[in-house]
Amino acid sequence: MRLARLRNKTTLHVTGDGIRTGCGVLIPDTATLTHPTDEWYLHTNCYNCAYRLWPEHGPADYLCPHNGKDFPPRRKCAHGFDPQGCSVCTPPKPTNWPCPNGCIDPVDHIPGGRGGYVWATACTVFPPSRPLTDQDECVGACEPYDQVMKRANPKLRLDMSDSTEATCYHCGRDTRFPRDGW
Ligand SMILES: [Zn+2]
Ligand SMILES: [Zn+2]
Ligand SMILES: [Zn+2]
Ligand SMILES: [Zn+2]
Repeated sequence: MRLARLRNKTTLHVTGDGIRTGCGVLIPDTATLTHPTDEWYLHTNCYNCAYRLWPEHGPADYLCPHNGKDFPPRRKCAHGFDPQGCSVCTPPKPTNWPCPNGCIDPVDHIPGGRGGYVWATACTVFPPSRPLTDQDECVGACEPYDQVMKRANPKLRLDMSDSTEATCYHCGRDTRFPRDGW
């Protein structure tokens, strides 16, 4: 493979045969061609060349660029992934760690680490909810999820979504909208 720079252009294309670039452009006489190199992928910045040549000529230990800005290509991790997306190379950070409640295993504080809610640690307390009416409604006023959880877990910072926060802990209705609004 050789790199090809067409006249007055900043794009470095790749060519296998010296006739056309990987992205399909006929290479004119005025183009500059490099010596053959196995490391073409480290030098090209033509997304279409890289993308089209990758399946056959791409290096197994690098990721094919995702777009025109994803150059030079990034190395895969030892597990075959983008290191950023690999849970071994980039493990999720424990939240609320060290634990204010005295947990001793950080896994208990990794979001989803024990398969629970992504915003809850293993030591998060879920208090019993109130009995509901026959219509599954709260007897008194609804109580937003985050109020109940903050009261039960004063030392934890629980990063739940807005819609979870606003949901009634007991009956599951959205407390942001009036109950009998229609
Ligand atoms: Zn190209
Ligand atoms: Zn990895
Ligand atoms: Zn804990
Ligand atoms: Zn309610």
